[in-house]
Amino acid sequence: MPYDGQTAGKGGHSDFVRNPDVQAFLAACQYMRPPSDEEGKNLAATFSEAPTNSSPQLPEYVVASDASKSDQAISQKLPSTQIGFIKVSHVLIQMDKYAELIDPSTRFVDPFKVAELHRNASPITYTLPGSNIRYKNARTVKDGFRHAVFAQLGVNRAGGGQNKFVLTDTLFALNKGELFIENCPSCKVEHRFTFTPDSQSNLCNACGESVYMTDWLRLHEGVSDFGDNTVAMTRMMNCIEHLLLVALIRQVFESDARALSKMAFIMDGPLAIFGQPAKLHARIMEFLYKVNARLTELNQEPLLLMGLQKTGNVMDHANLISRFLPSGVIRILDDDYRNKYIAGNETPAANFGNETYYGQDFLFKTERGRIFNFAIPYVLSHKGLVNGVCFSQLKSDPKAYGSLVKRACDFIRHFELDLFENAIVPVALAHRHASISIIPGGKVLDIITKAGLSRNSTHS
Ligand SMILES: [Zn+2]
Repeated sequence: MPYDGQTAGKGGHSDFVRNPDVQAFLAACQYMRPPSDEEGKNLAATFSEAPTNSSPQLPEYVVASDASKSDQAISQKLPSTQIGFIKVSHVLIQMDKYAELIDPSTRFVDPFKVAELHRNASPITYTLPGSNIRYKNARTVKDGFRHAVFAQLGVNRAGGGQNKFVLTDTLFALNKGELFIENCPSCKVEHRFTFTPDSQSNLCNACGESVYMTDWLRLHEGVSDFGDNTVAMTRMMNCIEHLLLVALIRQVFESDARALSKMAFIMDGPLAIFGQPAKLHARIMEFLYKVNARLTELNQEPLLLMGLQKTGNVMDHANLISRFLPSGVIRILDDDYRNKYIAGNETPAANFGNETYYGQDFLFKTERGRIFNFAIPYVLSHKGLVNGVCFSQLKSDPKAYGSLVKRACDFIRHFELDLFENAIVPVALAHRHASISIIPGGKVLDIITKAGLSRNSTHS
């Protein structure tokens, strides 16, 4: 959106902006604009000094994930025939080896050393039917899509060995072993389908179609026979990326919970799940709470799972206000601030992201002057009242996050020197080196065990 001082682009665009109807329309709209000097100063005053001390608290291992997709038409001759291809890559970085990856003179990541580190790697991929593709003789694209999601989420991705890494297992675990659907996803007839690990699919009595436990995610709802199914693929990609990271965390948790306090899990984007599968966010929130409760029992630091956002309206806002901020400051994005300065919403919801977010956003301007938007998980198991206090208020207290805020800041400080295409290095590596990312599941566990993070091994 254009704002004061921005020169309009090419002719057509400036004509359009100068059009009186458009001008009148804009005058009636609220939109993001740079704050005045006075507003800027007032905003800056609400930031506080970022937590720091002489010894940064860094993880020993970083797992970073990156997801990408392709949903182009499969041939020029069949323009409306679409296949979705989703790829999620994970990179595991051992922090004491990280220094060796960076050329000290240029501070560039040495791609050959990175390749050496992750020689035996491959991303996890999912292939889905899009418009005009009926998978395994399904009646509709949607039914085939449901089948493909079920089949591919049920695959063991551990890459051999004894370990199992299956997303359908994770989905059951997040839902206490049982999933319910109230309608047939194919014919919509009202019927309660119940799924357990021993009974993961059913037949609908009304239409005879198979109903799968993965239909609970509702990913198929945006799929149509001949329409563009790009949105459904994007939802699937985001959902899978979060689910995979949770599955990794769960695997380490079940094998040796203590190891989690020495690791950081990083992803690109907010800690939120949007659209049809959004309810998954509440299960993830509950699971992370359980993990942290166990870590507290074990006298360990809470898990550092961090979402880093490079783009979006929070970063747009951050870039607008950065010049007013001194270096080394932080602010929690509470709902008041978000509604007033970012969302521009006159009638805000009682709790921002109530149906979607499982993590809290922060704005952090480093001592070196770069601005970041990071998110860490909420520290509660649900979004209801606690002792009469509403969630919107509970989540906005930075103290509730304990050491996590400082650890997130330390992490960003450590990696910001080596920004790679504007991204923190682990995320950039996951993105750039998809072909050399590690096989998660079994592999991550193997590496952690070998490296002596496990409590059963000798202390290093
Ligand atoms: Zn049916």
